[in-house]
Amino acid sequence: MARSIRLHTPASLTAGGLVALPPDQAHYLGTVMRATPGAVIALFNGRDGEWRGRIVALRRGGAEIAIETQLRPPAAAPDPDLWLVFALLKRPATDLVVQKATELGVAAIFPVITMHSLGERVNLARLEAIAREAAEQSERLSLPELHAPQPLPALLAGWPGGRRLVAAIERADAPPVAAKPGPAALIVGPEGGFAAAELDVLRAHPFVEPATLGPRILRAETAAIAGLALLQAAPRRR
Ligand code: SAH
Repeated sequence: MARSIRLHTPASLTAGGLVALPPDQAHYLGTVMRATPGAVIALFNGRDGEWRGRIVALRRGGAEIAIETQLRPPAAAPDPDLWLVFALLKRPATDLVVQKATELGVAAIFPVITMHSLGERVNLARLEAIAREAAEQSERLSLPELHAPQPLPALLAGWPGGRRLVAAIERADAPPVAAKPGPAALIVGPEGGFAAAELDVLRAHPFVEPATLGPRILRAETAAIAGLALLQAAPRRR
């Protein structure tokens, strides 16, 4: 097989085990990837590392995979301790942000409702499917936690101690977004930007660090991708 197939499953992975896959993954195997019984795939579940499995049954209603040997132990390449908070965007932009944030290794994604954000709801099942596919193709061993949207003040009120929140703010006299050791998160505003009152509230919290992504005004999804990349770049040695 030219391209290797990697799938996420919530099931436990142990040698000799049998894992059932749902219809959407059976469709992906049979129709999209043209795999047949006997073919070898890789499976991961965020706990047991990555395992080699062999397709033993493949039907429209599901597939069965016999688990053989471990390919990678758990957490062979630990993900950065990085969260993304983003103001809700139009659906295609929200989808893109969830996909790219997953590729970039974020551990948790928090959509927030701000004064200028669009809508108050997301289809979490759909976003979970996007995150799962992004994890599968980027060789992550885990899935990001996807949280339901909440108002920005509620998120700030419940912020955990010890985690810095780097706030991407355009046209601000702020230092560049930069990686530092320890737990971190990035917050990006909506297309309309944060309201002045929201900027005041953000700046009032001791864990918030305003930061710039340069002199150009980026789309929110670009700001999220660029900011996440910078937050995990190796810090410069002295
Ligand atoms: N409509 C606003 C721009 C919003 S850009 C205006 O014209 O002023 C959307 C979000 O992307 C912002 O809220 C901010 O979080 C982020 N962003 C865009 N460009 C940025 C930059 N140069 N530096 C830091 N953050 C930026």
